[in-house]
Amino acid sequence: MMPMNEFALIKRYFERSDADKSDHSGAVLEAPIQGVVQGIGDDCAVLSTDPDYETVMSTDTLISGVHFPENSDPRLTAQRALRVNLSDIAAMGGQPSAFLLALTLPELNETWLEGFSLGLRQVSDAYCCPLVGGDTIRGPLNITISILGTVPRGRALFRGGAQVGDAIYVTGCLGDSAAGLGLLDSPVQGDGSEARSVGYLKKRYWQPSPRVSEGLILRDYASAAIDISDGLLADLGHILRASLVGAELTLASIPLSAPLVDTWAKTKAMTLALTGGDDYELCFTVPTDKVAMLELKVREGLLSAHRIGEISAKEGLICRDVNGIVVDFSDAGYQHF
Ligand code: ADP
Ligand code: MG
Repeated sequence: MMPMNEFALIKRYFERSDADKSDHSGAVLEAPIQGVVQGIGDDCAVLSTDPDYETVMSTDTLISGVHFPENSDPRLTAQRALRVNLSDIAAMGGQPSAFLLALTLPELNETWLEGFSLGLRQVSDAYCCPLVGGDTIRGPLNITISILGTVPRGRALFRGGAQVGDAIYVTGCLGDSAAGLGLLDSPVQGDGSEARSVGYLKKRYWQPSPRVSEGLILRDYASAAIDISDGLLADLGHILRASLVGAELTLASIPLSAPLVDTWAKTKAMTLALTGGDDYELCFTVPTDKVAMLELKVREGLLSAHRIGEISAKEGLICRDVNGIVVDFSDAGYQHF
């Protein structure tokens, strides 16, 4: 095979002919709102914008050896990178529109690119969010994705909207991904229940579920929202500071998955749920007059969410055990510096 240059690489692995594109018939999301006028191939991508919508955008960098282990499976690495970015759009109540990929590669490894581009395509198709451009250079492995989405004008969910008395909720279960990260080097042996639990937790690390359809529903109910990337206490702390309020959490209400409590003792499982990162669940607050309607959506199975506490006037975050005793978790989440 001829050695590939940068342009051949982009064409081969990242450009999509229409024949490649799935019909998205399995997608549960509302139709993409922005049309792609020009994708990969010109100086810029061009998206058409609807005057009734606002654009939300975000970027995230994943560095090999820092944000994922070196020599990771390229398909899983790509999936995780895009899912993490989709989660930011979900946290704003946004519908993903398109993304850009800035890829720094140590070498032109076709096996790696094959797996990486496949993983990217799978998630891109599942969330109707096409790759419309990017940059490709040589250097230590670094994956930077920039993502765009849309929300109806004035309907984005912010961190700063929580009010005293609002109920605090989280989607899904917490702590699985942090537990999975700690188990990445443990081989899954056999198909017993322990092996199934370990396999599940690792999958939650590699394939977190960006809560996009939940975010769209929450536009109607949430006063504030954030996605949990650095641990519940750290990320709820961002809502509290932005909203100038405090909170009380009931530890017994924190949702823990069966595989998590099967694998770890109760206190370790709870510590992972509160301070472990990488869950990419949503934490959101709901005014009391909307709680009943939100609970109805949960019972109808439109979203999985658990009520875990309440916004209070007193500054700070208090966690109480079943007996109402305050428990201290001062080691609050992952920090980069
Ligand atoms: P320019 O020199 O104008 O910045 P490039 O030569 O870097 O453009 O890229 C050519 C085209 O390929 C552009 O449309 C760019 O967005 C796209 N592209 C480059 N790298 C990637 C990538 N990793 N993924 C998707 N599109 C890419
Ligand atoms: Mg140019």
